[in-house]
Amino acid sequence: MSFRLKTILGIVLIQAILLLILNGYGFNAFKSSSNAELLKRAQTTTALFASTVHNAVLASDLAALESFMDEILTNHDIVYARVLARGVVLAQGGDPSALAKPFVDDSSFESVTDSVFDSHADISLATKKYGRVELGFTTKAMEKVLTEARHKLFIFDALAMALVTIFSYLLGLYLTRGLATLKNASRRVAEGQLGYQIAVQGADELAQTAAAFNDMSSKLAVLDEEHRRAESEIKLLNTELEKRVELRTTQLASLNKKLEHQSLHDALTLLPNRTLYHDRLDQAILIAHRNTQSFALMALDLDRFKEINDSLGHHAGDLVLQETAERLKTALRHSDTVARMGGDEFALLLPTASSADEAAVVAKKILLLLNDPLVIDGRSINIGASIGIALFPQHGDDATTLVRRSDSAMYVAKRTHAGYVLYDSSLDAEDAERLTLHMDLRHAISHQQLVLHYQPKIDFSTRQVSGVEALVRWQHPRLGLIYPDAFIPIAEKAGMMKPFTLAVIELALKQSSVWTQAGLNLTIAVNISAINLQDPQFPADMAAMLHTHQVLPTNIELEVTETAIMSEPLKAIENIKKLSGMGLQIAIDDFGTGYSSMAYLRKLLVAKIKIDKSFVMDMHNNKNDEVIVRSTVDLGHNLGLTVVAEGVETQGAWDKLKELGCDSAQGYFMGRPVAAAELEKWLERSPWGLTNPDTDANKKTVQGSS
Ligand code: C2E
Ligand code: CA
Ligand code: CA
Repeated sequence: MSFRLKTILGIVLIQAILLLILNGYGFNAFKSSSNAELLKRAQTTTALFASTVHNAVLASDLAALESFMDEILTNHDIVYARVLARGVVLAQGGDPSALAKPFVDDSSFESVTDSVFDSHADISLATKKYGRVELGFTTKAMEKVLTEARHKLFIFDALAMALVTIFSYLLGLYLTRGLATLKNASRRVAEGQLGYQIAVQGADELAQTAAAFNDMSSKLAVLDEEHRRAESEIKLLNTELEKRVELRTTQLASLNKKLEHQSLHDALTLLPNRTLYHDRLDQAILIAHRNTQSFALMALDLDRFKEINDSLGHHAGDLVLQETAERLKTALRHSDTVARMGGDEFALLLPTASSADEAAVVAKKILLLLNDPLVIDGRSINIGASIGIALFPQHGDDATTLVRRSDSAMYVAKRTHAGYVLYDSSLDAEDAERLTLHMDLRHAISHQQLVLHYQPKIDFSTRQVSGVEALVRWQHPRLGLIYPDAFIPIAEKAGMMKPFTLAVIELALKQSSVWTQAGLNLTIAVNISAINLQDPQFPADMAAMLHTHQVLPTNIELEVTETAIMSEPLKAIENIKKLSGMGLQIAIDDFGTGYSSMAYLRKLLVAKIKIDKSFVMDMHNNKNDEVIVRSTVDLGHNLGLTVVAEGVETQGAWDKLKELGCDSAQGYFMGRPVAAAELEKWLERSPWGLTNPDTDANKKTVQGSS
């Protein structure tokens, strides 16, 4: 129901109630006042009638009485009339039933129950009563008048009410039209027509409300606009963000995949790495365990990788590893795994090789493949490898043991140049020794456990010892004398070569000083490693030590390998210049096994080259070796260098070298490396010793070989 309707209905209702109350109350008041009036009038009328009929009664003029009677009865209030004299009715008229009733002299209108009341007046003259008149009055006529009046009142009220209603309607119309406008505007705003404006007329409250509404609506519109803009910006941002998140997610997913692959593979060879290998090994163990099967695993280490890496550089080293990986893959079945464990170490898992024999077949195949020379940067390189084999479950039923034991077997293969070795429990001792050595070595250097043995070098021209090579040994308190091949690689890996070499040089200088004081003039050659050669501090260290021990630099020779020079040629050349500038002699050791070029040899300020024993030892059986030795001797001489041959084990080799014009020789044929005291005895007794300068070659042969 609308506000307008409610207002009008309310007003009408209030009016109706008021009307009813007023009407009822007014009528009753009116009615009671009319009754009282009627009573008064009745008494007056009765008295007047009595005086009117007075004369006619006295004269007993019945005709006059009759006409008075008719006249009085025209009065609507009067129901009957009667004139009495001395108890006799002279005249009467009106309603017969009212006449029939006994006359009740009662002036109280209220007691008149049948709306008729009787009234009388005496007819008297000078206090003497002649008769009386009786009149019956009725309220009916009065009531009729009253009813009419009431109707009129009602009509008036109704008219007034209608007027008020119309007025209130119009008022309501005015008020509610404003409200309706507001309502309509509000609805529009609610429906989204933000900023909707109402036409403002005048300055009353409604107009102010409308103005306030307009203001609010405009503000809402502005806010809404801002909101929409922000919303669309957020939406844009959201879609942008979603896109970015999606992109990032896919990128991350592929990165994860890549990372996972990276974390399980070696970046250089793309082979599985140590982690993945161990994972596969664990799986292989589980499967073999369940099916009570055997399988083999191998540890493989390249033989000459370090040399190649040092002399030809890391790029060549990388190529060697990649080529090795390729060759290993071709040797294996699909179910096999070949992994790179680090450096030049590889590991192979052969789940289908169930016996030592089957594993040996694979090992031979691999060795054959790796024995084929590699061609790197146009050079042909023999790399070689050593393999250790372990079997599940014979040699261990867990991954760690199996890997350790295949490693042990590999070390033995390396040391014995056996190619491949199957693990055996006797190898455990060796394995343990290797570990012990690693832990003991640092202690050995600082606790004087290193000793030097000296091997003589004989000049072909004088047939006399001209110098000695100092070869280090480790006097281990528990394991006895250990040879350098067993611990120098450990010292290199552990980064101990600097203190190690300085300790050896210290020993050699002490010995040199002792021998010089004893009148023995022997040059002592010391082996130094690549690390020392590249150490810018080394020449200064060397000078300081020479000074401390008061040894002439010309009494000391330094042997460096080709690979030691070639790993960092510039630094090496720099140091060689300084050292030879100090008066020290430099010899290139193991010449022929490395990859140094003639061009470099020319630049190097070296005094000597030492032909590697591998060419010398087999020279008389192997034409190739003889050719190499011959050309090396010629080359050295052309460059103005002294040429020394190592590994002279036989008279034949001695003779051949002499024929080729070699300058000096070193080898078991003349003398093995021995402790200083023993060397001193040898110097006295040997035909090549200092005391027998004129002994002939034949005699030497007998004594030397005995
Ligand atoms: P190298 O410098 O080539 O030393 C010569 C090696 O050949 C010595 O082995 C020596 O005993 C051995 N030899 C000598 N004559 C003959 C022979 O007629 N036939 C055979 N088959 N071998 C012979 P050693 O003493 O075991 O040393 C092995 C290697 O250890 C040395 O080879 C050298 O590279 C390294 N080394 C030895 N002492 C030191 C050292 O003080 N410092 C460094 N950095 N390396 C050293
Ligand atoms: Ca040497
Ligand atoms: Ca050598």
